[in-house]
Amino acid sequence: MLTKVDHIGIAVHSLEETMPYYEKALGLVPSPVEEVVSQMVRTVFFEVGETHIELLEPTSPDSPIAKFLEKNGPGIHHIAFASDGIEKQLELAATNGCRLVHEVPIEGAGDKLVAFLHPKSTFGVLTEFCQPKGE
Ligand code: ZN
Repeated sequence: MLTKVDHIGIAVHSLEETMPYYEKALGLVPSPVEEVVSQMVRTVFFEVGETHIELLEPTSPDSPIAKFLEKNGPGIHHIAFASDGIEKQLELAATNGCRLVHEVPIEGAGDKLVAFLHPKSTFGVLTEFCQPKGE
């Protein structure tokens, strides 16, 4: 089952240009910046209570984030739910008509397994499930 909103993903052109807003204007503390090779992004997380804001900067023009920025400009990219059973979560979504971007979870940032549902099957919201590895 889903246990909380884990994070909200925000696509940005540059972490360096964007981070001061979150650090200074909002007073949040960043995690170390991490590169996720499988997704062609650099990410940073800001903790806000139980949830996080994830900034995503593309590292290649082929990155899905680069394509998103080209089409929409910077802004909210996805919502991520923590799941205590990501495989079952994907199965539940698939049997109820959702299109899976990942049939099998992949490596995400923060040592997590992640998988996405296609926004065309979720009323416009790119939806991520995530689960810490080894849980
Ligand atoms: Zn995410």
